[in-house]
Amino acid sequence: ATPTAVMVATGVGAANGVLIKGGDALERAQNVGYVIFDKTGTLTQGKATVTTAKTFTGMDLGDFLTLVASAEASSEHPLARAIIDYACHYHFYGKFPTTKDTMKMRKEDFLSEWLLETSEFSALPGRGVQCLINGKQIMVGNRNLLTENGLPVPLEAENFLVELESNGKTGVLVAYDGIFTGALGVADPLKREASVVVEGLKKMGVKPVIVTGDNWRTARAVAKEVGIEDVRAEVMPAGKADAVRSFQKDGSVVAMVGDGINDSPALAAADVGMAIGAGTDIAIEAADYVLMRNNLEDVITAIDLSRKTFARIR
Ligand code: ADP
Ligand code: MG
Repeated sequence: ATPTAVMVATGVGAANGVLIKGGDALERAQNVGYVIFDKTGTLTQGKATVTTAKTFTGMDLGDFLTLVASAEASSEHPLARAIIDYACHYHFYGKFPTTKDTMKMRKEDFLSEWLLETSEFSALPGRGVQCLINGKQIMVGNRNLLTENGLPVPLEAENFLVELESNGKTGVLVAYDGIFTGALGVADPLKREASVVVEGLKKMGVKPVIVTGDNWRTARAVAKEVGIEDVRAEVMPAGKADAVRSFQKDGSVVAMVGDGINDSPALAAADVGMAIGAGTDIAIEAADYVLMRNNLEDVITAIDLSRKTFARIR
């Protein structure tokens, strides 16, 4: 392709909300053999909603939700926002007319007046959060977070979690003062176009893959729903980059599509890193492509554009 053709393609991309950082990235996209998708915020809408919550120690559900929301208040994870919204809604529901405005007002009240004071907060990437409340430790996160700290999950809770994970929801587990206390189920629907895009990639001879930090059962359920057979779950952020490299081993050209801080090492390691425009700045910086429309169809647009520009005959 001539420099003019590359310039034209870059312009066509930009007009469609596909920002391409340079001619090399544009050229590599034509040969993509694998597209690795992050799950949360990439295949899914990233609009997590708590659908269920339960305590297993007899703790009052309202008290439980206040405790969990307080622990999550310093987290930037999509799960944290979902949990805080749910706790707020639980406490205020039915007590005032719920319009968007009153809800927003109540949320500010909730954050400033209801939340408990925390100290020694730490976010544990790929696991959850922990901090002290009333001088007692609270942990909110996945099974690994609890088991690594020697906290067993009772059978009744395990059944509750298996049920929701089998439906593609994410289970959030809570331990307070060294005791497993309760759990929440969080749903995050697939993007509307996700299945069609996966189907389209397969037709183009490109293999779709999911690599996620979420648990295996949830990942498998989501993969099945979207039509992806190759799944890697419970992957730590550094592990996502290793996954990219493992697909590159046989010389394949690998694209990674992601939105989060936890995806940036993988976006950088990929031959073609594609960041969701609605994602975090760090992901956008690490990527070669930015998909401004937050629409997965643009993964296909990007590959098509490269193929047409470099006129590969297949
Ligand atoms: P993904 O690869 O799906 O974007 P992450 O690496 O962000 O996932 O997180 C992996 C898992 O760690 C989540 O599915 C969740 O179980 C747990 N986790 C991370 N942050 C939090 C948090 N703030 N609260 C509860 N759980 C969390
Ligand atoms: Mg994500």
